[in-house]
Amino acid sequence: MIDYTLAVRLLMEDIVARVPALDHVVPQQVLVFARLGRTSAHGAYAACHSLMLPDSEPAYYFWRDRRTGALSRRSEWFVTRSPEVRVGGRRISHLVSIALPRFCDQTLNDTHKAGVYERGREWMAKLDTIVHELYHVDPHQGGIRRTARVDGSPAGQAHTPAFFREVQRIVREYVGSRPDPAVYEFLTLDFDGLVKRHGGVAGTTFRDFPAFPQRYRERLADQPRGPRAAQIVPLPPRTRRRHFTEADLELRQFLPNSTRRLG
Ligand SMILES: [Zn+2]
Repeated sequence: MIDYTLAVRLLMEDIVARVPALDHVVPQQVLVFARLGRTSAHGAYAACHSLMLPDSEPAYYFWRDRRTGALSRRSEWFVTRSPEVRVGGRRISHLVSIALPRFCDQTLNDTHKAGVYERGREWMAKLDTIVHELYHVDPHQGGIRRTARVDGSPAGQAHTPAFFREVQRIVREYVGSRPDPAVYEFLTLDFDGLVKRHGGVAGTTFRDFPAFPQRYRERLADQPRGPRAAQIVPLPPRTRRRHFTEADLELRQFLPNSTRRLG
């Protein structure tokens, strides 16, 4: 069976080593994991999440009385924090998720890449996606290049035309550097092709699949007094985990519509 997330990881290492524009990315601090994304369903092919965003400003939810506009209810105060993921003792700065099998079945027609890459070179669209996620890694702060949402994923305005152009330039620079085809050859096969050749497609996931480490809310120990509201709503009890290590990872096989744990 092909370990798809490992293949992506090794390709990322090669890209980062060959393309100066991405030489700030430390592959050992990027964890690639797989999520289930059906080919027939719409959705992202991949995503990049920063685990290094600072705590959010203290905040609370609130509800207003529709008639008077007064604060009728609010939650307790909280901050939003990043979970900590460590692999081999090293803190992971970014998670990159790959949607399987959808990623493998990406075609040029489905995306803005139709006019960008040569027809019949579908694999370059997949390479573009991988470079795209690496390009989200901020060169300075371990965050997301430009703006990020509170959950650590890139905000919509991160995707400017200049962003897409730079990603395409990096893709061409990488291919032009004559990498060993063995490193990227897995991109040339769609899901069926991979199954035929390797017997199956597997990927690293978190044990509590389909969950994965995400930003969580933490109640402020010292609750500010204000603002006044008729009712203060307690925050729901802690559900999200805060610390993860390699012991929380496992390999799963990905099928067209489901997954199964590999023993
Ligand atoms: Zn993006």
